[in-house]
This record gives sequence, structure tokens and C-alpha cells, in this order.
Amino acid sequence: MNLILMGLPGAGKGTQAEKIVEKYQIPHISTGDMFRSAMKEGTDLGKKAQSFMDQGELVPDEVTIGIVRERLSKPDCQAGFLLDGFPRTIAQAEALEQLLAELATPLQYVLHVDVPKDKLIERLTGRRICPECGATYHVIFNPPKVEGICDHDGTALIQRDDDRPETVSKRLEVNAEQTQPLLDFYQDKGYLVTVDGDQDINVVFEEIDKQLQTLV
Ligand code: ADP
Ligand code: ADP
Repeated sequence: MNLILMGLPGAGKGTQAEKIVEKYQIPHISTGDMFRSAMKEGTDLGKKAQSFMDQGELVPDEVTIGIVRERLSKPDCQAGFLLDGFPRTIAQAEALEQLLAELATPLQYVLHVDVPKDKLIERLTGRRICPECGATYHVIFNPPKVEGICDHDGTALIQRDDDRPETVSKRLEVNAEQTQPLLDFYQDKGYLVTVDGDQDINVVFEEIDKQLQTLV
């Protein structure tokens, strides 16, 4: 099952990804998570990505394509993969096509989780994540069992720096501009499936799952 998840920041990609990978046992490949953990570990990749991420800019294509190429070439991706946060540019989408052709593993669906922009601000400012396992919560819409603590590993939850109210609107604006050409690209190629993301988390998953059932 070879999938891409798309949608604006806060649309619910990470939340749905957790459910998809649990059910279908495919690796979740989030370029944002990969960059964040490289930064935390202080690797060369982390150092390269840091200045771009701190300014809310995209990490250069060659760096990003390089890490995705390396990751998709690992054996656990032979049964499929769920890409989240990649591709973000047409150059990345074209590089991905070439890479998947080389690996002889064609793309199946691009799942677009669609949510009106005005709903996204409250989703992002209320988001909390586990710095250990990456699980995503929301203070109101999807709270952990114990306030401020990850259900999976008991770690104290944090707010991402870029989820603070002062940066959120700008991020949404820039991201919407960047995303549209990619939606058009995949629509033209016939991969795009749009799901209404402005519904309860489990209802969104049911809709996604209906699509995925056609692949198994
Ligand atoms: P968001 O959806 O809020 O942008 P992500 O976790 O997907 O958050 O990404 C965080 C940051 O990581 C981005 O702002 C960007 O700097 C970098 N990044 C993630 N994915 C990519 C990508 N495909 N191309 C370039 N930069 C990326
Ligand atoms: P993305 O990965 O697309 O940026 P997330 O999955 O991190 O989005 O979700 C953003 C925030 O919104 C999180 O706090 C999450 O718990 C919450 N959320 C996700 N899906 C829904 C939904 N369908 N309804 C309400 N809140 C949601």
C-alpha cells in the first residue's frame, strides 16, 4: 500500500497516519519528524535543516529528496509506505516519481484531508505532541487520558514552537500556496482522493479506510 497524505498544517495528517499505520502496518514517513529528530540528535542533517526550519522555510529539495530516497530504499518499505509532509514542491513530486519507478513500486493514492482554513488555527494552537514517540493530541478535541502526559509512554507533552498563535496564520498562508500546485499535479495524474477532514477523528478515518479497503 503506497500512499501520500496531504493537507494543510492541522488538517489531521499525523492523527490519521497513526491510525493507518496501526491498521495496515506500513511505515509512517514524516519528513518533518525526521528533521525534528535529526535536530534533537544534532546530526549533520539536523544542522543543515535547522536554520530553514527555524524560519518556517522549506529545507532545500536536494537535502529533503536525499533523506526520502534513503528511507524508501529500506526493506521495510517494500510492503508499502505512508508519506506525510512530502512532497512539498513539484520538484520533490517529480523526484518521487522517478524514485518509485526505480524501485518498481507505484504510488496508489494521494489522500487529501480537506479542512476549511478557519478551523485550522484552533486545531494548531491546541495541539500538543509527545517529544518521545511523536503522538499527537489536542487539549480539547483529542486530550490524553491524563492531562499533559502521553498515553503511550508517560512523557510530558510539549507544544511545538511553530504552533504558537503568532506564527500559525503565516504558516497556513504559505503552506496553502505551496500545496495547491501539488494537489493539481496529483489530480491530473488521477491519484487524488479528497476526504472531508472537518468531522470527528474516527469518522475521517472510516472514510479513509473505505478507500484503503479497495487496495487489500
Ligand atoms: P508543518 O506541516 O507544520 O509544516 P512539518 O512537521 O511537516 O510541519 O514540517 C516542519 C518543517 O520541516 C517545515 O517547516 C520545513 O522546514 C521542514 N520540512 C518538512 N517536510 C519538508 C519537505 N518535504 N520539504 C522541505 N522542507 C520540509
Ligand atoms: P497535521 O499532521 O495535518 O498537521 P495533526 O494530526 O497534528 O495535523 O492535527 C492537528 C491538531 O488537530 C491536533 O491537535 C489533533 O489532535 C487535532 N485533530 C486532528 N484531527 C482532528 C479532527 N478530525 N477533529 C478535531 N481535531 C482534530
